[in-house]
Amino acid sequence: MSDPRRGIPSVDALLASPEFEPILKGFPRQLVVKVTRIVIQEIRNRLLAGDKDIVEPDGLSYYARTVVIRLEQETMPSLRGVINGTGVVLHTNLGRAPLAEVAADAMATTARGYSNLEYDVEAGRRGSRYDHCVKLLRELTGAEDAIVVNNNAAALVLVLNTTARGKGVAVSRGELVEIGGGFRIPEILERAGAFLVEVGSTNRTRLSDYQNSIKKDKVAAILKVHRSNFRITGFTEDATLASLADLANEEGIPLLHDLGSGLFVASDALALPAEPLAADSLSAGADLVAVSGDKLLGGPQAGIILGNSELINSLRQNPLCRALRVDKVTLAGLEATLQLYRDPGQALELIPTLRMLGNTPENLGKRCEELAAELTELGIGSSIVESEGRVGGGTYPGVKLPGFALALDGPDGAEALAMHLRSGDPPVIARIVDQRVFIDLRTVLPGQENDLVRRVREAFSNEGFDS
Ligand SMILES: *Cc1c(COP(=O)(O)O)cnc(C)c1O
Repeated sequence: MSDPRRGIPSVDALLASPEFEPILKGFPRQLVVKVTRIVIQEIRNRLLAGDKDIVEPDGLSYYARTVVIRLEQETMPSLRGVINGTGVVLHTNLGRAPLAEVAADAMATTARGYSNLEYDVEAGRRGSRYDHCVKLLRELTGAEDAIVVNNNAAALVLVLNTTARGKGVAVSRGELVEIGGGFRIPEILERAGAFLVEVGSTNRTRLSDYQNSIKKDKVAAILKVHRSNFRITGFTEDATLASLADLANEEGIPLLHDLGSGLFVASDALALPAEPLAADSLSAGADLVAVSGDKLLGGPQAGIILGNSELINSLRQNPLCRALRVDKVTLAGLEATLQLYRDPGQALELIPTLRMLGNTPENLGKRCEELAAELTELGIGSSIVESEGRVGGGTYPGVKLPGFALALDGPDGAEALAMHLRSGDPPVIARIVDQRVFIDLRTVLPGQENDLVRRVREAFSNEGFDS
């Protein structure tokens, strides 16, 4: 019997074949050469190992098919879209806030061309990137001035470094928190060049505690951190923002408020528990307030600092500001998002984060029924179950968003089905509850239904389920 490896064509022969013509049109030649070499080597190895399945590949088209699959894997973007079936609206691992159409459009337009990012068009000379969004932020929050940086973590670093470098910052022991991903207030403070002055106890911190520590230590600022991602209940006490503002005033030091969540509409409009707005914090007397752009605001990743002009100016002049600066594409998306807030009704309707948070169980149930009917037509059984969504993104800890999900039973179990749902394009990220796969429609965006049905069908057929 002849050695089957002798039938393997050379790279050159494959590249010159009509089967490879479309491949070379669709992919860079060098990459095709590299992948073809790998494929040939693998086939050679498999033949050598006696793999019977490929003893007689069906001519050159076998190589062409194999090479195309490899090329598609090789050129697939690392960052790509997924369908969020978890019901967690601000899923940090899934990119937090999906943007409003107008915001995404503004970002694409700005990305494609030149802009007046740092150019004063009227005067015909250099302008400042920190001028953009300021007017809207002042209008929407009542702040005297504002500056936008890369994210809220950067905002905090800039604020602390500017107001308290080499000096102490008073923080309640109940607020020495980890925000997520190793971002801890005491460490950030230290990296920002300030030192921590701990005040009070974990569950109770009174105004007098702040007064005492300010007397003792060289405190240059008071920092209040919003407990956005956890709650302390029971025997608790906190100094109010207004009383801290009075104290900071008396001492001639700034009151800094890390608010995080960035809600820009009244929380009762969302049927969610009360959550402080930046405007409330400013009117209670905070000198600088920091919020995220991509949490409840529903915009792109950004850190927004609001507050008094003198302090905001000193932030602008800090050399660190350059290292934390926001890019033009983000500014375009943020500005378009903020514009929507001029009409809160419009914001609730057009900003996906707010729309998903406000989605009613009735509406979610209806969408489940429609999808379940489509799946039934494909011979795939599902049921509609009650499901609790979450706000996510380290906001509204413990708050549940009542709704409905589609529950699926995979022939090989929930883990296998969830894995098959993830391995395709676009991946569907679902939740496993009681050995069933739940797809919560709250976070499935309008227009994703067809893809979702297709992906469920693919996941079932990958499991050998014959539909
Ligand atoms: C989320 C959060 C941050 C971090 O904000 P990023 O925009 O993710 O950097 C800081 N502080 C608080 C209170 C937060 O909730």
